[in-house]
Amino acid sequence: MKGRFALMNGARMAVVLSFDVDAEAVWIDRDPRNRDRPVVLSHGTYGPRVGVPLLLDLLARYGLKATFFVPGWTAEQHADAIRAIAGSGHEIGHHGYLHETVDGLPPAAEEEILLRTSDFLERLVGARPRGYRAPHWDLTPNSVGLLAKHGFLYSSNMMDDFVPYLHPGSTLVEVPVHWTLDDGVYFTFVSHPPRDRQIYAPSTVLSAWRDAFHAYHRHGGCFVLTMHPQTIGRPERLDMLETLLREMRETDGVWFATAAEVADYCRAEVRAVGNRP
Ligand SMILES: [Zn+2]
Repeated sequence: MKGRFALMNGARMAVVLSFDVDAEAVWIDRDPRNRDRPVVLSHGTYGPRVGVPLLLDLLARYGLKATFFVPGWTAEQHADAIRAIAGSGHEIGHHGYLHETVDGLPPAAEEEILLRTSDFLERLVGARPRGYRAPHWDLTPNSVGLLAKHGFLYSSNMMDDFVPYLHPGSTLVEVPVHWTLDDGVYFTFVSHPPRDRQIYAPSTVLSAWRDAFHAYHRHGGCFVLTMHPQTIGRPERLDMLETLLREMRETDGVWFATAAEVADYCRAEVRAVGNRP
């Protein structure tokens, strides 16, 4: 059976390794009182301080390039870590300013966040981000238009497909995602807000992601893992990720790409035949 997206650069499927470097911003956004909770903040600090160097080492050992989405505030606070990511050849994408949701924001406020973070990232790493992943995967009805207006190549937020596509009437590519391929839903647990979550064993997550990977391979899809250095960067979870990377690399017909590489390819190939393959 031919995959639905038979355009994956000659491969059956694409694999995009993406990391949202939320750091402390996600906790401050979740509850401003977390600014005065050193232990809650320390979950975030682990990301750029410990998780990022370990992930850069892992990716280098496998010769893989990934996409790191960064809030502007996090880039200001952890400039060295973000420079190290870019300096290793990985893609830097836009992930809001203080990890704020844009849900309900007027267009001008959403646009201000877009420009503020793009401007800072450009000063920091020498290139404007080409991709946008909204904090919490929230878009507004204005987001696609604003991204296109400001020259973004792609959004990585929607859940209406498992292959990339062009937004209707736009040159903006969507690199779709899903919560099942997000590490946070399996692993995130902090003392504030209330403990209402379960922490899953890495073996459980490996099983879920492995099944998904082989299904995407069978159907022909773009397998986008969304991970967080503060979450996947714990030792036992890094080992799990390495096990999965080894298995994916041993599978035929897999194109490992950054989200921008997939979007560039999609824009060039799909444009001629409509917004979806
Ligand atoms: Zn995030």
